[in-house]
Amino acid sequence: MVLRLSKLFLRTLREDPADAEVASHRLLVRAGYIRRAAPGIYTWLPLGLSVLRRVEQIIREEMAAIGAQEVHFPALLPKEPYEVTNRWTEYGDGIFRLKDRKGNDYLLAPTHEEMFTLLVKDLYSSYKDLPLSIYQIQNKYRDEARPRAGLLRGREFIMKDSYSFDVDDAGLDASYAAHRGAYLKIFERLGLEVIPVAATAGAMGGSKSEEFLHPTEIGEDTFVRSAGGYAANVEAVTTVVPADIDFSNAPAAEVRDTPDTPTIDTLVDAANALVPRSEADGGAWTAADTLKNVVLAATLPTGERQLVVIGVPGDRGVDLKRVEANIGGFLPIGGEITLEAANEEDLKKQALLVKGYIGPGLSLDAPLLGAEAASKLLYLVDPRVVSGSAWVTGANEAGKHVFGLVAGRDFGWDGIIECTEVRAGDEAPDGSGPLETARGIEMGHIFQLGRKYAEALDLKVLDQNGKQVVVTMGSYGVGVTRAVAALAESNHDDKGLIWPRAVAPADVHVVAVGRGEEIFAAAEKLSLELEAAGLEVIYDDRPKVSPGVKFGDAELVGVPTILAVGRGLVDGLVEIKDRRSGEAENVAVDKAVDHVVNAVRNN
Ligand code: ATP
Ligand code: MG
Repeated sequence: MVLRLSKLFLRTLREDPADAEVASHRLLVRAGYIRRAAPGIYTWLPLGLSVLRRVEQIIREEMAAIGAQEVHFPALLPKEPYEVTNRWTEYGDGIFRLKDRKGNDYLLAPTHEEMFTLLVKDLYSSYKDLPLSIYQIQNKYRDEARPRAGLLRGREFIMKDSYSFDVDDAGLDASYAAHRGAYLKIFERLGLEVIPVAATAGAMGGSKSEEFLHPTEIGEDTFVRSAGGYAANVEAVTTVVPADIDFSNAPAAEVRDTPDTPTIDTLVDAANALVPRSEADGGAWTAADTLKNVVLAATLPTGERQLVVIGVPGDRGVDLKRVEANIGGFLPIGGEITLEAANEEDLKKQALLVKGYIGPGLSLDAPLLGAEAASKLLYLVDPRVVSGSAWVTGANEAGKHVFGLVAGRDFGWDGIIECTEVRAGDEAPDGSGPLETARGIEMGHIFQLGRKYAEALDLKVLDQNGKQVVVTMGSYGVGVTRAVAALAESNHDDKGLIWPRAVAPADVHVVAVGRGEEIFAAAEKLSLELEAAGLEVIYDDRPKVSPGVKFGDAELVGVPTILAVGRGLVDGLVEIKDRRSGEAENVAVDKAVDHVVNAVRNN
């Protein structure tokens, strides 16, 4: 069908929408692809839907290629399955909850692990039924704290989510590998550069997990990579841990008066004045010799506030996102935990915490014990705090620090946590060289869930020996609407969008420029011939619109090939322009269709 601009439900805008921070948001609204309905919630207009459908089609084809079958769940779901897995609580404010007229609780699904697990349990019972991969392309709802950047972080968005079901770990590995391969193909076909990076499993539980990040400055995810091919989400980077140190000859720790040394800098100066250290002993004291104890307040999904103290070398900052991603195992409840620096109020409630002079508890099995046992604080340390390492650190008394406090001899901890800032120049954990940092947008995420959901919801099958075994699962998501935004983000210029062929709303944008009837007749004829040749055609047939506006709209809308029929027609010529390279050519009218068809075929 030829889309005629005189009829198409489209209004392009000259002004940027006031709330748009990034190019994709600005241009998708201005070019008439989407309209905002509410914060983080968008209406799709005909051109937008066309791009969206193309993205979905590529995903469907690659899912089919690995044998995954499409199903479709409701978005409106009962609470009960999410209660069984505890996610009704864990999601906290992150989900939209509602009640039916009888007062029963429902939610708008943020993701569908529970429902897929129950569906398979409902229908399958034997190892012979497995492996199985099923998927859907569906709306998801998340009450994001900061919906931003238009489609990039919506509160309603479309996700392709698939789930694999296998009888054993080897099966899960194979399903995971198949999805990984399919994802690489999807993004390649979309023309969207992605880097698979190691990720933490977060609230999903399970073990192995990778994210597909599209590198861009406006991305919210920071990741690191090495020249040797290592790539990981910052949350998932593991520290290269120094070897334990023999402390049998280490001198005893000594508490010293260090008045007015509440910061690491003042402490280092005081240390160098009080206890000058010879070159042979490591030279002047630096921040890296100090153990900084940072107090954080964790807000649990239940709303409770709990303090956590983290010990890190004084030359490193604490990265809250890394702590958030890794602290789950140390707190009694799963789900999303948010962290912030503890405030004055928090500190006042803990007699032990003397601001500026906080140290680990001076005992191995009481890492940080307050005046009363009830006030025991969780004390976690950076992996660099290895057994035998000696530190200058707070003595838990105003104006005093302790020198030569040996880890594993003089103090212990409740756990070791990846928590410090990862810096450019740090070594990659696999020895593949120094790390550099970059930013990206998460386009997809694949997880080996393992048996967590199957166990919780009792999904078992009979194995070859007639024994009931718990099924092992994977879960795999692609942000479909986010992909549209990311494509717009990485394919535009100051005039408008520039779609890659694979997803463009049409193959060619025909513009009738001028007033002459013969111009419109020729443009109409060419449009119909292009359509007959199998192309998708947008035809700007608006009679009383100026050439400047028409060209401006063509560039804004971003179809890769623009065919202009205008003044040249008297000489038998039309102009064919490549929106991507900006190159234009005059072509004989009777060669125009072939020319465009070739351009489309050859990309
Ligand atoms: P993010 O870290 O960006 O919040 P997530 O890790 O919560 O994403 P997953 O649960 O892994 O997201 O969802 C799978 C995919 O769905 C993501 O890789 C992303 O492409 C997409 N997605 C997630 N949240 C949103 C959102 N609010 N808006 C648009 N797409 C989203
Ligand atoms: Mg994710």
